[in-house]
Amino acid sequence: MRKVFWDNPYQQSLKTKVTSVSDNRILLDETIAFSFSGGQESDQATINGMTVLNSEIEGPLIYYTLPAGHGLNTDDEVLLKIDWPRRYKLMRLHFAAELILELMTRKLGLPKIGAHISEHKARIDFTFDRNISYIFEELLQDYNAIIAKNEPIQTGFTDEVTQRRFWKIDGFAEVPCGGTHVKSTAEVGYVNLKRKNIGGGKERIEIALAEPDRLMIGA
Ligand SMILES: [Zn+2]
Repeated sequence: MRKVFWDNPYQQSLKTKVTSVSDNRILLDETIAFSFSGGQESDQATINGMTVLNSEIEGPLIYYTLPAGHGLNTDDEVLLKIDWPRRYKLMRLHFAAELILELMTRKLGLPKIGAHISEHKARIDFTFDRNISYIFEELLQDYNAIIAKNEPIQTGFTDEVTQRRFWKIDGFAEVPCGGTHVKSTAEVGYVNLKRKNIGGGKERIEIALAEPDRLMIGA
């Protein structure tokens, strides 16, 4: 199953073939529909107009669950489409969260205890016994400088067999990540940060895109 969302994270529809059907779970020859991993939520997708109800990663495969009575058989040609405005926000927020995390690690070296990227906001949780917002001004200065420099975001395999991926920008080490990423930091854009005390000596940073509805540069 070729994961086209890695080769071309901007592809919004794909003609492919069904390679296996087991009740309502199907496998496709190629896919553009990302399935929840690394904290990034699954894409909302349709196959021949039918809503994909669920997706599950098993080893190198992604199983998609369709409504009962989908009528598909092995070797059928299908059209897979994803909710592009949603995916684009997920990609931008994913990188924003990654970059905030890298900068936080540089500044404070705090252990991250959780992260999640949804369509409208991302969050990163840390173990920290004081109000984390004191660092926001300095953090955003560094973040904004990298966005303004429009650094290319490189991605690729660290190990193709086990499908381990990374992203990298100039000045940072390779970061292990199997998410989908935009081409450059300017596309990610500026963000707003919000602090939440989630109790138990834990602090949460919530990240929202400053321009959530902006589409691709030049588009
Ligand atoms: Zn990631």
